[in-house]
Amino acid sequence: MIDLRNLSLIEMEDWAEYIELKRYRGKQIFQWVYGKAAGSIDEMTNLSKEVRAVLAQKSYISNLSVVKRQVSTDGTEKYLFALEDGHSIESVLLPEEDRLTICISTQVGCGMGCAFCLTGKNGLERNLKSSEIINQFLKASEGLPQGKRITNVVIMGMGEPFANYNNVIKAVEILTNPFGANIGARRITISTSGLIPGMKNLGASGLNVNLAISLNASTDEQRSIIMPVNKKYPLAELLHACREFPLKQRKRISFEYVLIDGFNNSPEDAKRVARLLKGIRCKINLIPFNEFPGSQFKRPSESSVLTFQEILFDHNYTVFIRKSRGADILAACGQLHEE
Ligand code: SAH
Ligand code: SF4
Repeated sequence: MIDLRNLSLIEMEDWAEYIELKRYRGKQIFQWVYGKAAGSIDEMTNLSKEVRAVLAQKSYISNLSVVKRQVSTDGTEKYLFALEDGHSIESVLLPEEDRLTICISTQVGCGMGCAFCLTGKNGLERNLKSSEIINQFLKASEGLPQGKRITNVVIMGMGEPFANYNNVIKAVEILTNPFGANIGARRITISTSGLIPGMKNLGASGLNVNLAISLNASTDEQRSIIMPVNKKYPLAELLHACREFPLKQRKRISFEYVLIDGFNNSPEDAKRVARLLKGIRCKINLIPFNEFPGSQFKRPSESSVLTFQEILFDHNYTVFIRKSRGADILAACGQLHEE
């Protein structure tokens, strides 16, 4: 049996032909499966009963089951989803005044081993299939009140997206396809710990989604301590790849910087970051470290966070401090994990 939620538009058209339907049926099926979020083949009413019967013999539409849905005092919602093989993943819905963002996962666990992140504590379990990535969006959309829709997607949940490149890109293609979820590429962001080959491939793909880089340190020595990936792709190479990244007019790369008390949050660090990013069209998101049970690091004081921001302001950067949303239900950055 083929899971229709694993197929891109072209694959769906090929599949239609393969089961001896007309190729254009593939697009209709694609529209049902993603655009209209059909839960079963029976719902596809512009296909004849016979066509539906052929399809149902050989394929099905997967979904995720919700194990738990928690709502934070600040309105953030966290979903715990069960996968077919018994593993679980988390996704987070972040309502704001003018938008509704979902943060989705790309792997069960993560193999990158960043010292400050709960997701990576037990290593990588496995990559998510593209169906499991897109189903986080579709299942969370199902739970929304009538008339509400998800407007933005950040691929910043559990896992390193570029360590599961093909499935992530397929999911992004489905999200952006006008017959699929129809979310504008401008409203999608992929965050990476710095896998340069993935950055290059994304740049060459022409997808035009936003790129975010987890910088998190101001020197190689520091970064290698908390992010082992830095030994393979050190700062000079990472920032070179950022400078080469094809950016559309008025677009910017985002740099995330987790501020850890007494480790990477000094004024000298801020000055070094300013120097490192010189000439890159970017914005900087400061993320005060979110603590989790057993974490060895501490969240810095608010005043030190503001000082860090001021120094970057003085160097003419656009700098935001990311609010720690949903921390009471372990839904904030770095707090997602398998249950
Ligand atoms: N693997 C990708 C995307 C998921 S992590 C990446 O690393 O970019 C999303 C963001 O959360 C990253 O910027 C990461 O640096 C940050 N993060 C991880 N653990 C954190 C913690 N405990 N507190 C604050 N931010 C954290
Ligand atoms: Fe993986 Fe990102 Fe966590 Fe690092 S910060 S362990 S890359 S999820």
